[in-house]
Amino acid sequence: MQVVAIDGPAGSGKSTVAKAVAQRLNLAYLDTGAMYRAVAFAALSGGLNLDDADAVLAVAQTLDLQLDQSSCVVNGVDATEAIRGTEVTQAVSVVAALPAVRAEMVQRQRQWAQDRNGGVMEGRDIGSVVFPDAALKIYLTASEEVRAQRRAAEAGGEDVAAVAADLGRRDEVDSQRKASPLVEAEGSVVVDTSAMTIDQVVDHVVGLLK
Ligand code: C5P
Repeated sequence: MQVVAIDGPAGSGKSTVAKAVAQRLNLAYLDTGAMYRAVAFAALSGGLNLDDADAVLAVAQTLDLQLDQSSCVVNGVDATEAIRGTEVTQAVSVVAALPAVRAEMVQRQRQWAQDRNGGVMEGRDIGSVVFPDAALKIYLTASEEVRAQRRAAEAGGEDVAAVAADLGRRDEVDSQRKASPLVEAEGSVVVDTSAMTIDQVVDHVVGLLK
């Protein structure tokens, strides 16, 4: 089984790079952030109090999730756009900090890779927790300014300062939480993409595997 783990903070270029690397290597691709977003979406849709860990866990355990590169269907509802919206983005780190929710998602992620004999997986804890023995572990990063600019451009010209504040808040929660915080996993290669083009990053990552 060949797993390529790509972790890093929001806006570091993980999704773009992971998708391109998967295509180049002819491997499947999994966005694990979308899985946590899907749990947050389902919890919000059910009107749950996100502090009610048991209720959120029940949602995670029974989640019917159909996720691929272009769509995300949660319990039969097309949530492709909603999981990227403000409401979900604000709620996701709270949901992702719950250890039991993580345990459920990690189990699904390992199963996903087993069923495909590997793949390119992006997230926060792939190299540290989900697949510590991955063939290649990348920690993708970029300066805060560059990350905020990228996300603002993606969102169609949103205010950079507002995006920067949101990224900072999410990075803080993701790095400080007790359960599987965002860390540079042992044995990972740190790639700072601030001054690199996407093609350069992809070439570099693919080159590291060969
Ligand atoms: O990658 P993305 O920004 O879509 O991830 C959304 C959120 O999901 C992150 O801010 C983090 O709280 C959570 N996440 C996580 N572990 C992962 C992937 C994402 O905790 N492996």
